[in-house]
Amino acid sequence: MTLSQPSYEALTEHTAITLAKKLELFDSNADLVCHEIGDGNLNMVFRITEPAAQRGIIIKQALPYVRVIGEGWPLTLNRAVIESEALRHFAKHVPQFVPEIYYTDAAYAITVMEDLSHLTIVRTGLASGSTYPLLSTHIGEFLAKTLFATSDFAMGPQEKRELALQFHNPELCKITENFVFTYPLFDHETNDVEDILRPTAEALWNDQVLLLEAAKLKQTFMTHAEALLHGDLHTGSIFASDEETKVIDPEFAFYGPIGFDVGLFIANTLLSALAREESDRAALLFHITQVWDVFTITFSNLWRQNNVDDFAQVEGYLEYQLQHIWADAVGFAGSEIIRRIFGLAHARDIEAITEDAHRLAVKRNAAALGRDFIVNRSLYESPSQIVQALQQVV
Ligand code: ADP
Ligand code: MG
Ligand code: MG
Ligand code: MG
Repeated sequence: MTLSQPSYEALTEHTAITLAKKLELFDSNADLVCHEIGDGNLNMVFRITEPAAQRGIIIKQALPYVRVIGEGWPLTLNRAVIESEALRHFAKHVPQFVPEIYYTDAAYAITVMEDLSHLTIVRTGLASGSTYPLLSTHIGEFLAKTLFATSDFAMGPQEKRELALQFHNPELCKITENFVFTYPLFDHETNDVEDILRPTAEALWNDQVLLLEAAKLKQTFMTHAEALLHGDLHTGSIFASDEETKVIDPEFAFYGPIGFDVGLFIANTLLSALAREESDRAALLFHITQVWDVFTITFSNLWRQNNVDDFAQVEGYLEYQLQHIWADAVGFAGSEIIRRIFGLAHARDIEAITEDAHRLAVKRNAAALGRDFIVNRSLYESPSQIVQALQQVV
């Protein structure tokens, strides 16, 4: 089945229904309803349902520009290909943690996939009090299996470099380099700093010790092609219930440092924990220790069983790898925290704190933690030290 119109056209709720029928995803005479439900910054997401049959599908379409900005900020349509290829790739290793893909089309920049509406976006659920007891167990396994499988420890050099070329993703990497690593550490026009917090932000912008370590982390992001990353694994890219977890939205996928995916998950969980009342925080802090515990156990088992590197069984090599992944993760978590406080896209659960004094205190605490994670990343030996650091500032 191919689309009759060969060139790109932005879908509407009406043409999305026509497309779904053309793809034979529903009977030609089915009564369908379509709503555009996208709430992200970049893309359109159409949910098409057949109420009579209680079934639905999702069509995600990239626009040739950034959705929240408009045509003034063009962005490659190829991100839709990256996203669908990454989801297919993850499905080889962890099908239980990604949506099923029904159809993709590069010219239309669409991914047609399983409707996950029975689950909730984790960022939203955490903000309304859910805790998702299995979230970190699932994400730890997702990360260890997808990242090990695409590393030099599981792939030969030819195969790995071909995969890396397929996920050459410079435009999306540039967004991360600018909006996560660079702009939040300078007085840049895209930042979003509450007036009263300006002195706090300025202290970071003038902190030479911090800037040097932040520069090193950015360079690690740009140059350490360790594995195929998700690349945008914040809590808005995860659907969950108490039983299930599904990772979506890997349009930033590229070959990068393993600690980046781990660090983003930890940072966003930590920000949600900071936004909560103390009595209610433990269930979220658990995710920080658990994601790393499960990652370590799963990654180590894969290493022992499947490592193709001649050096694999050399004493201390696995421990060395885990240690540097962890230190990277702590540093990247720091970068992500600072950008969610002072950069363009803030942590929604912190912004939702209406009491000014409380919100400002949470932001100051987060900024202090972010700075310490970046500067002292190699001194944090384990996730429990991250949790302790948080408990000391609040
Ligand atoms: P963006 O790249 O623009 O951030 P996302 O992939 O994060 O787009 O999707 C935006 C929103 O669309 C999600 O927060 C979710 O509400 C909805 N959505 C995306 N994929 C699905 C899906 N498979 N099932 C149900 N809803 C989805
Ligand atoms: Mg998204
Ligand atoms: Mg979203
Ligand atoms: Mg996205």
